[in-house]
Amino acid sequence: WWAACHGHSHPKLVAAAKKQATTMSHVMFGGLTHRPAIELAEKLLKLAGPGFDAIFYSDSGSVSVEVAIKMALQYQQAKGHPERTRLATWRGGYHGDTRAPMTVCDPEGGMHSLWTGQWTPQVFADKPPARGATEEERARYLAHFDSLIDDSVAGIIIEPVVQGAGGMRFHDHELLVGLRKLCDKHGILLIADEIATGFGRAGDLFTTQAAGVVPDIMCLGKALTGGYMTLSATLTTRHVAETISNGAAGCFMHGPTFMGNPLACAVADASLALLAENRWQAQVSAIEAQLKQELLPLAALPKVADVRVLGAIGVVEMREPVDVAELQRGFVERGVWIRPFGKLIYLMPPYIIEAEQLSRLTAAVAAAAR
Ligand code: PMP
Repeated sequence: WWAACHGHSHPKLVAAAKKQATTMSHVMFGGLTHRPAIELAEKLLKLAGPGFDAIFYSDSGSVSVEVAIKMALQYQQAKGHPERTRLATWRGGYHGDTRAPMTVCDPEGGMHSLWTGQWTPQVFADKPPARGATEEERARYLAHFDSLIDDSVAGIIIEPVVQGAGGMRFHDHELLVGLRKLCDKHGILLIADEIATGFGRAGDLFTTQAAGVVPDIMCLGKALTGGYMTLSATLTTRHVAETISNGAAGCFMHGPTFMGNPLACAVADASLALLAENRWQAQVSAIEAQLKQELLPLAALPKVADVRVLGAIGVVEMREPVDVAELQRGFVERGVWIRPFGKLIYLMPPYIIEAEQLSRLTAAVAAAAR
């Protein structure tokens, strides 16, 4: 599920976990630090590129989004804008299952509708135009988004380029440039949730980086440890970090017990070292080419509404919701595990998958789509 980019039981990741387990398994970051967290931070900041200077580690993707939202609110408080308490986002998004992330998930889809009326609604723009939109369509969309931002908004949070669990929709990198401009214009923060897209999944190491955009806050998780254990990181700029630390609270007010767990940091470090060997680009391009070749023709089938591929993500959208239980029986009979939801049958294989194995998956998807 987006996470196991190097597959299971990679010897280098296993070795990193073993070595760290025999050295020091965990210590709370209460006035202490440790080498695995520092070394990982240095690597991550370098990979994320100029603009990012600070990292906050936490336990899962959802918590890293909680942290990002809290950072944005604490930043606005420190700037003398306590009235800026809401987030703006677009419909069709997904940011996790804990409370603050749920408030910025799609307001109608998923579980969100269960909680209507129980919290202050966030600001929701329409779904972004699908990838391949014209400049004019993008400009019209950004003007619509702009018109919704008022003095109650602290920041914009989005999944850049790929809206994942909210519908597997793709949009143009250029929209991110437009959102960056909106944030600068209104004095609000841009939060990029790259938990699903980070580390090459959508064809670039980070989609924001590929768009030439530096968000104020970026959330990473899932493939950060190669999917071995749970760890997330919320990256931010020196400006945001220092503004928060110079505010009344004196620091960012969050301190999870297992923050920066050394075992997870050591495995993440080894995973980044594998990515740095730079095979992922060729692997992801090969997966993309094969997914296009084997999935795009399914668009001609009567029950198929759309097929889209980006990086190592392949999506077949059916016209009607699928019978998940029935499809899964067929998948298991073919010896594959694919988990459709709603109208979507989708694949995001590990980068190490072999062409034959991927063909087995696409053949199972084709059979289901037929
Ligand atoms: N944000 C995005 C974009 C995600 O795809 C997910 C996980 N599906 C999350 C946040 C939540 O991460 P976790 O499941 O690790 O809490």
